[in-house]
Amino acid sequence: LDLAAPSAGLQRLLPGPAPRMTILSNLSLSVGQGEMLGLVGESGSGKSTLARAMMGLVKITEGNLRFEGQPVRSRADFVKVRQGAALMFQDAVASLSPRRKVAAQIIEPFQINGVPLPDGEKTPLAMLERVGLPPALAQRYPHELSGGQARRVSVARALALKPKLVIADEPTAGLDVSVQAEILNLMTGLRRDMGLSFLIITHNLAVVRHVTDRVAVLYLGRMAEWGPTREVFSRPYHPYTRSLIAAEPQADPRKRRADLALKGEIPSVLARPTGCEFHTRCPLARPRCASEEPRPQMITPERMVRCHFAEETRIETQGGNHGT
Ligand code: SF4
Ligand code: MG
Repeated sequence: LDLAAPSAGLQRLLPGPAPRMTILSNLSLSVGQGEMLGLVGESGSGKSTLARAMMGLVKITEGNLRFEGQPVRSRADFVKVRQGAALMFQDAVASLSPRRKVAAQIIEPFQINGVPLPDGEKTPLAMLERVGLPPALAQRYPHELSGGQARRVSVARALALKPKLVIADEPTAGLDVSVQAEILNLMTGLRRDMGLSFLIITHNLAVVRHVTDRVAVLYLGRMAEWGPTREVFSRPYHPYTRSLIAAEPQADPRKRRADLALKGEIPSVLARPTGCEFHTRCPLARPRCASEEPRPQMITPERMVRCHFAEETRIETQGGNHGT
């Protein structure tokens, strides 16, 4: 996928005509049927933009997108994608309209798409039940919901048109740990019962570790590494992945790897570093990294890493030197 996109964030940053620039490039991503794929990276890495591109909300200038094996190019193709895939926006409460009752909002996807209500008047109640909410909530307004309830309402809306794929942008953000677990259980249950595929976008590695089959690590709009979740977490090859893991809260602070700590902030996409985009913060960077862009390397048919020195980190992690 190579995407040139005036992203919402950039428009807010830079008034005037929307700037066009390549936000994401050199990446490919696939979500299999019934699979849960995690997409991780810090804020500013392009995760939400990627999700929006998959839904046709950001322009893809080069590259291709397929849905259920079919190429997606025209406006009509994207209409099909939007019926078969649902996007759960990052802020559940903000994505609901404050002045309309839950019942009205929950049936909106049917109305927008001209689809008759599957259970007539009972549709909102059936939808609430499916996501584990009591019928009484149908008559409430969004501000009367807890964060977890609002999240469930957004799951219900996402499921309305019986999608094959749900793209969930930060589904657990802002929720207490116990509520986070409930939402994740809801999603894994839906996958089990309906064979749904999920793309879970998050900066929370614990979420990815617990529920996903595979994980892709994004840095500044480029894929750093991907592979089966268990393997990536036990043997991360990319220095960025290793730093993200090292930054997770540790029960035993002595296990912290100071040598892997991320330096500074993620640069802006407007000032993408040359060579390897991670070289300004990489603990292992060498002169070559500033000038030469690393190419994707398949370490196994299921694992990709983009780093000039992946071979070395590989030997080190296989030597059991890593703290996780
Ligand atoms: Fe770090 Fe260089 Fe690898 Fe980039 S290519 S991740 S800067 S070691
Ligand atoms: Mg985001």
